[in-house]
Amino acid sequence: MRVKVTLACQECKQRNYNTTKNKKNDPDRIEFSKYCKFCKKQTLHKETK
Ligand SMILES: [Zn+2]
Repeated sequence: MRVKVTLACQECKQRNYNTTKNKKNDPDRIEFSKYCKFCKKQTLHKETK
């Protein structure tokens, strides 16, 4: 059971990535360190609705 989630940069709040997650494995909000082209560096991206 996979659900679509959007990942938003925690520094500029831009929504940079769409991904999916398994609700059983990740019942809580997921976080990834990814490159933000707006910040031009790796930043923390968190799941948003
Ligand atoms: Zn950013």
